[in-house]
Amino acid sequence: MEIFMAKYGEIALKGNNKRLFEERMIKNIKRRLSPLGGFTYERAQSTLYITPVSGASENANLNEAERRLLTVFGLGAVQRSLSLPKDYGEIVRLGVPYLENKLVSAKSFKVEAKRADKAFPMNSMELMREFGGAVLEAFPHLKVDLHSPDVTVHLEIRDNNAFVCPNRLQGAGGIPVGTSGKALVLLSGGIDSPVAAYMMAKRGLTVDMLHFQSPPYTSERALIKVESLCEKLSEYCGEIRLFCINLTEAQEDIRDNCPEEFMTVLLRRAMMKIAMKLCGERHYSAVITGESVGQVASQTPAAIICTDDAANLPVYRPVIGMDKIEITAIARKIGTFEISTLPYEDCCTVFTPRRPKLKPLLSDVQRLEKRLNPAFIQDCSENINIKIFGQL
Ligand code: ATP
Ligand code: MG
Repeated sequence: MEIFMAKYGEIALKGNNKRLFEERMIKNIKRRLSPLGGFTYERAQSTLYITPVSGASENANLNEAERRLLTVFGLGAVQRSLSLPKDYGEIVRLGVPYLENKLVSAKSFKVEAKRADKAFPMNSMELMREFGGAVLEAFPHLKVDLHSPDVTVHLEIRDNNAFVCPNRLQGAGGIPVGTSGKALVLLSGGIDSPVAAYMMAKRGLTVDMLHFQSPPYTSERALIKVESLCEKLSEYCGEIRLFCINLTEAQEDIRDNCPEEFMTVLLRRAMMKIAMKLCGERHYSAVITGESVGQVASQTPAAIICTDDAANLPVYRPVIGMDKIEITAIARKIGTFEISTLPYEDCCTVFTPRRPKLKPLLSDVQRLEKRLNPAFIQDCSENINIKIFGQL
């Protein structure tokens, strides 16, 4: 019988409140797997055993289940394994042929054995040697390579059963979504903010999104892009609420009444103020952005002082010290890169100043802001469009 061993990551180290994290993670896993049919869940030794019930055990279904398990924060490793009786003869008889698919195309392998059940008559060393020998006999084209094998076969003798796994995969890590409260992501259509959302969800936050549009300067297609990002991110983050707010009037007000070089920083303060209002009304504990120091004019230390001054809650900036290459690597890994690089305009690019001020003084910015009509900010936070993604 093929099953999944879903092994805990960081939460295995938790003390008294481990149960809370564990329960939340199992809930998140069930939510991800439920559309694929029936599974039973059993936990022991910092591992969740996930067993498909009849119809769910088809190969294509298990492939999809594996893919989904790799998106659940809190898991350190995912092992699709053959569950066997704790009898060495049976382990060889059924376990060796099970490895065929993975081993026919490999050149080298090694066996890693672990005997948690000390009552089992062979120790780990003996298991590695004997089982490795049996594999070699069945697949004589292979070589044993202890240092960098193509395939590492894991053989575990546990309290309940024995398990053979030819492909241990690294889990998504982090801690389960929903164990750290909720925060609001300022989501543009760019590369950085979806990565920021992913990174904070990985720290257990439930994330919802706030996106600013500026019709008619931004098109419906820019919105569709942000919706696709939410859809994609919900694979990791669970249910996501997307709040869309129209920023056009506030933006035109800035354009018409303030020097062009201050436009970016004033716009960012407007965004932050609206976000803070929404956080207050809907009980978010922080705002998350995709800012990275020095990347563009609005992200110089001086500009960040001005943005933070408009915030009355913490602003989490998980990519603050990362360069574009590092951020892009994560975007590719989580599948947001292809969406983020679709060529649709964002409200920030609509009235971009030719030479934005790199070191805006907070006092100047606050003084200029007095020229603006506060009603625009007040009003746009009352006109919210809400969509939900990743619902069951
Ligand atoms: P990104 O790749 O995330 O768009 P960026 O490098 O383009 O970032 P900016 O355009 O300066 O940087 O935006 C900085 C941050 O401000 C973004 O990471 C995002 O959190 C927020 N932001 C920018 N534009 C919008 C928008 N239209 N709606 C909501 N948030 C936005
Ligand atoms: Mg942007």
